[in-house]
Amino acid sequence: MASPLKILEQVQLLEGQLAAFAEELDRLRVWVEELTEENRKLSLENAHLSDGTKTHAMEKGTVTSGEAARVLGKLYEDGYHICNVNYGGLRKGDCLFCLQSLQRSG
Ligand SMILES: [Zn+2]
Repeated sequence: MASPLKILEQVQLLEGQLAAFAEELDRLRVWVEELTEENRKLSLENAHLSDGTKTHAMEKGTVTSGEAARVLGKLYEDGYHICNVNYGGLRKGDCLFCLQSLQRSG
């Protein structure tokens, strides 16, 4: 039979492993949250991009230019580029090219 000291040693070893395991679980949880958030952003961006494709069709004259301008303006407000330079990309702050496009279509 193992001595109490040996058992204590085993318990401490297990405790250490448990702590490491809990840490690993936490890391995984954060990772899953990040992936979920990333996924959400990507599907949002995707939806906007297909909106943008429709907007291009509108620009070819299937709807009034006023309506196209409205859609473009909304895209811009939502934080996406509507300029030729960065079209569909996420916008950080104002973009002069976008503002120009807005003025031209509005
Ligand atoms: Zn832009």
